Amino acid sequence: MLNGIGNVAYLGASTLFILSLRGLSHPATARRGNLYGMLGMLIAVAATLMIAPDVSLVIVLVCAAAGAAIGALLAQRVAMTQMPQLVAILHSFVGLAAVVTGVNSYLAPVAGLSGAEQVIHECEIYLGALIGTVTFAGSIVAFLKLQGTIGGKPLMLPGRHALNLALVALAVVLGYRFLTAPSLQAGLLALLTMIVVAGLLGVHLVMAIGGADMPVVVSMLNSYSGWAAAATGFMLDNDLLITTGALVGSSGAILSYIMCRAMNRSFISVILGGFGTTKAVSVAAAGGEVIAASVDEVGVLLRDASDVIIVPGYGMAVAQAQSTISEITRQLVAMGVRVRFGIHPVAGRLPGHMNVLLAEAKVPYDIVLEMDEINDDFSHADLVLVIGANDIVNPGALEDPASPIAGMPVLEVWKARTVVVSKRSMASGYAGVDNPLFYKDNTRMLFGDAKASVDALLKSLAV
Ligand code: NDP
Repeated sequence: MLNGIGNVAYLGASTLFILSLRGLSHPATARRGNLYGMLGMLIAVAATLMIAPDVSLVIVLVCAAAGAAIGALLAQRVAMTQMPQLVAILHSFVGLAAVVTGVNSYLAPVAGLSGAEQVIHECEIYLGALIGTVTFAGSIVAFLKLQGTIGGKPLMLPGRHALNLALVALAVVLGYRFLTAPSLQAGLLALLTMIVVAGLLGVHLVMAIGGADMPVVVSMLNSYSGWAAAATGFMLDNDLLITTGALVGSSGAILSYIMCRAMNRSFISVILGGFGTTKAVSVAAAGGEVIAASVDEVGVLLRDASDVIIVPGYGMAVAQAQSTISEITRQLVAMGVRVRFGIHPVAGRLPGHMNVLLAEAKVPYDIVLEMDEINDDFSHADLVLVIGANDIVNPGALEDPASPIAGMPVLEVWKARTVVVSKRSMASGYAGVDNPLFYKDNTRMLFGDAKASVDALLKSLAV
């Protein structure tokens, strides 16, 4: 009876997780998506406690309360720009959980398994622990790189691909020894040795990846954590964990693919690492003059424009300039100016980063357009305001085959009558590439912190 209710609850929770993913795909429905996810998780935990035998409710509740308190504290403290690190460290927990569950399942075997069933169960344990360890170790390195604790430069050991292959081969050999172990101790030794080997593999795989590819790696580790959870689900014979793990695993893989496509990087070259080792070729070094503009001059340009496109980037997130930009948008619309936003798929540091910030600042969704929707319109725009963006508006990506970001689709802002770029200096962006946009005749540089600049711009519009 309890099992029946539990299964129905699992089905309900799975449906809520799918609805949650669907909701999260658009800013307008993201809150609802989050609520579905939370409700699904509540049902999942309650149903698991209900059907699980020999569970100490007190221990579970104490652990859940401690976890919830730490999670709530972290979520309140973390800045939007630190999200990738937070996501990386959370993935490491999923990996660790898979490893601990795997070792535990081996030490406390399910009664009544024999023959093929026993072998399948041990394969599940081994695979769960293997993927879990790679996820755990890789996520810790990704966290340290994103946090700046260790350098973002890729570690290029000689023969690194051979080393990776050797570690995988060793894990396979250990897997055979694990499955054919004559005793529990021998099996445990093979399992623990594999955990060390997989840990080295996880560390080395991510150490070889340069800073510019880290967000893709985080989303890839997200996918791994899902597959680790799915393997744990098989291990524990828990259908909900299998479904949830598969949802996370496949959505992470799709996200990695979308990010790679938006950066014109092949998935394989990201995994094999090394991006960022070549010295940035400066297309703009031949350069030319940079024309700086004052806030008042930009104010005049805005007043004279009838079609304005705003392009936000990572700098807008750092400066937290979105609310003032929303206010400027309202003012301009009230003055009869057509205002739209152009969003690059990898603007900022997470997919959807800019959409979330603009939605928070109450910019209407219908004027926020994707790159493909707006790229043809730049040539008709009177003014493009680039706020803290750099790589995503770099013409070198299209014009210079030697550029490290060559081939990455970009927002073609330079086609507008005038482009104003708000940033603090001539410093390069995430990819470390110089930007010829800043030297174009129709570009005006509005130097200074983006928030201070747009605050002053708002004041100058009000006069
Ligand atoms: P960039 O990192 O290219 O440039 C951001 C610019 O913002 C910098 O040049 C910096 O210049 C400026 N800036 C920083 N702080 C401030 C501030 N307080 N006020 C004003 N300006 C500031 O960002 P983009 O959004 O253009 O591009 C995103 C990059 O991240 C791309 O290279 C993309 O490939 C990469 N990436 C993004 C992913 C995603 O999913 N979103 C995933 C993978 C990679 P200055 O120091 O002079 O102020």
